[in-house]
Amino acid sequence: MPMLSAVAAARAILTSLHEVMASRAGAQAKLNQIVEAIGENLDSEVCSIYLLREGMLELFATRGLNQAAVHVTRLAVGEGLVGTIAANIETLNLAEAAAHPDFAFRPETGEEKFHSFAGVPIVRRERAVGVVAVQHVEPRRYEEVEIEALQTVAMVLSELIANAELIDEEEVLGVPAHLTGPERLKGLTLVKGLASGVAVFHQPRVTIEHVVAEDTEAERQRVYLAFDKMREQIDRMASQAEFGVGGEHEEVLETYRMFAYDEGWTRRINEAIDSGLTAEAAIERVQQRTRMRMRQIDDPLLADRMHDLEDLSNRLLRIVSGQLGTAASMGLKGDAILIARNLGPAELLEYDRRRLKGVILEEGSLTAHVVIVARAMGIPVVGRVRGLRGKMRDGDLLLLDGDQGVLDVRPAPTLVEAFEARFAKNRERQAHYAAMRETEPVTRDGQRITVMINAGLRDDMPMLNLTGADGIGLFRTEFQFLVSATLPARERQTRLYRDVLEAAGDRPVVFRTVDIGGDKVLPYLRHNDGETEENPAMGWRALRVALERDGLLKVQARALLEAAGGRTLNVMFPMVTEPWEFDAAKAVFESQLAFLKRQKKLLPEAIRYGAMLEVPALAECLDLLAPKLSFLSIGTNDLTQFLFAADRANPKLAERYDWISPAIMRFLRRVVQTVAPFGTDITVCGEMGGRRLEALALLGLGITRLSITPAAVGPVKELVRKIDIGEIRAAMDGWLASPPHDLRSTLAEWAFFRGIECD
Ligand code: PEP
Ligand code: MG
Repeated sequence: MPMLSAVAAARAILTSLHEVMASRAGAQAKLNQIVEAIGENLDSEVCSIYLLREGMLELFATRGLNQAAVHVTRLAVGEGLVGTIAANIETLNLAEAAAHPDFAFRPETGEEKFHSFAGVPIVRRERAVGVVAVQHVEPRRYEEVEIEALQTVAMVLSELIANAELIDEEEVLGVPAHLTGPERLKGLTLVKGLASGVAVFHQPRVTIEHVVAEDTEAERQRVYLAFDKMREQIDRMASQAEFGVGGEHEEVLETYRMFAYDEGWTRRINEAIDSGLTAEAAIERVQQRTRMRMRQIDDPLLADRMHDLEDLSNRLLRIVSGQLGTAASMGLKGDAILIARNLGPAELLEYDRRRLKGVILEEGSLTAHVVIVARAMGIPVVGRVRGLRGKMRDGDLLLLDGDQGVLDVRPAPTLVEAFEARFAKNRERQAHYAAMRETEPVTRDGQRITVMINAGLRDDMPMLNLTGADGIGLFRTEFQFLVSATLPARERQTRLYRDVLEAAGDRPVVFRTVDIGGDKVLPYLRHNDGETEENPAMGWRALRVALERDGLLKVQARALLEAAGGRTLNVMFPMVTEPWEFDAAKAVFESQLAFLKRQKKLLPEAIRYGAMLEVPALAECLDLLAPKLSFLSIGTNDLTQFLFAADRANPKLAERYDWISPAIMRFLRRVVQTVAPFGTDITVCGEMGGRRLEALALLGLGITRLSITPAAVGPVKELVRKIDIGEIRAAMDGWLASPPHDLRSTLAEWAFFRGIECD
């Protein structure tokens, strides 16, 4: 079989299946002929078909296993390899079936002599209605062409089985009894927040009625036309004001455009049509392959790109089948929570923002484009909810707790009441903080604290006015790079920086040059040697990349300098480890400045250069660096991970070490004291500054500038206005000289007795 191409194999099987179906044989006889035909064409020793009957996967036909097992061997969904394939709707390809943890031995089948196993779900309207599996004596993994042929067969089988009434459609597709009571599902918090509304399925699923083509050429034409139409749609979207004029969507749409014109994709669909499938089935076939690949991809960013491709594939399927409407095109009737396996960012933006309250995804990751966009839109998102779409119906009431990553489906009235109360409290709190927009963060003893926000997207800019923050203390420029398919061109960088400066008006914006590498991997910017890193957080990232690929830094320097023409440019470098790195990065900017001067371009009025303190070694040389700096920004996220030698992304360590510990506090105080004689501004821009108790601790160390997440501005301002800076500093001095057993509790108690809320 490996010698045979997938196209030829699938075509040969389709021809045999056609013959079988045209025969007058009964359903069981047809299935028997089908397993023979598949087995012969794929040259496999075993071919079996399991179908769903009364909730169990029953062996309906086999070639190669004991015939006595037919209609006797039954597996629950989720049980054994076959049950796992059906439960997860995924393909398994195993060289040694018995080594798989889900393997369940069924002695009546006589399968012990067969080592390798490949199984594919037979899917109807997104539910597995059966499984087709092949087995071989020889232990080996199946070739991709073999799996593809098997997947094509499974698609055809799904149509044949339904037509032959071999499965009870009502049983499979009707509303199962378990979809009536309340249910709680757990997932991963992607964007925090609370929401309630009715479940709206993003895509009323395209039903593929016909899988086997009558006329291959006609199917090819249908696909060509659909491609044209889809490309037109994408181009049009790009020109619409909502998506265009600079938003992050521009980068996203660029990625879409790249895929829409991708020749590999069209070629694979064409090959599937060659094998005898209809246009719809061919698109779905190729999409299945993409999904399978996606499961194998470790790189989250690359996986996100694959989701974009899936989004486009769904679009193409809708066009070709004429089943055009997503829930967006039909309009949301009331408060809605969108349900999708995955969602493209452009698709999210098609919804009515007033009615769309939340999003729940079966997949999704923190860095997915759609999540970045949802965050900017203020819509809570929970992802990685397994089997989501099988657990609810359109119109079910849902309560989404994005803070805890929990979803209540069809909640009991008492739960709704409790949720509403939380909701009301939340709104009240938000309104209270919003009203503090104009309130100055001044301590009781008259110290003005600077409270700025962290940002990274153009869509974050309205937060400046909404929170009344003093500026942007950290603008993560790498976000633009992260949502782009390719390195963003200089003009596009300039445009973003200019827009950000304009939106900020006279409030300062500190641009951090790209911090890529670490957890922010760009598929288009790899190591020269193509090696992967064991410890990317301590590897080739941030300024280390920028100084080596100085073309990257030069382009960014030009873009920043041009964007800041006539204004002050605040720029800082991430992960400075030794002072010379700061000098080298500054030199790149200075040479670009000289170039622009020669070109008689409008130059910034002033340039303030700063460094991030994220690597402990730099703290030992601050006396050398500080005189050269206009400001220093302490990135406590990275700094503390290096001080504790504890990966900031490892959930097992998340609770283990405390920022409010003598080690971190003493370290930070020493930094403050070293820099103080030089009069250099010091800001803390890590996450800890946005937590009230941590903010209190930082103020106690002499930090007076914070750059924090926008949602924390109100709570931190409120804190500042309640404290006496002299008092907390004196207390902190005492604690650090002779640390109490538990500094966090001591500090919390101190705050509590003064009526300072710090939770
Ligand atoms: C930090 O490390 O604290 C920081 C602010 O930078 P980032 O979180 O982007 O690494
Ligand atoms: Mg950092």
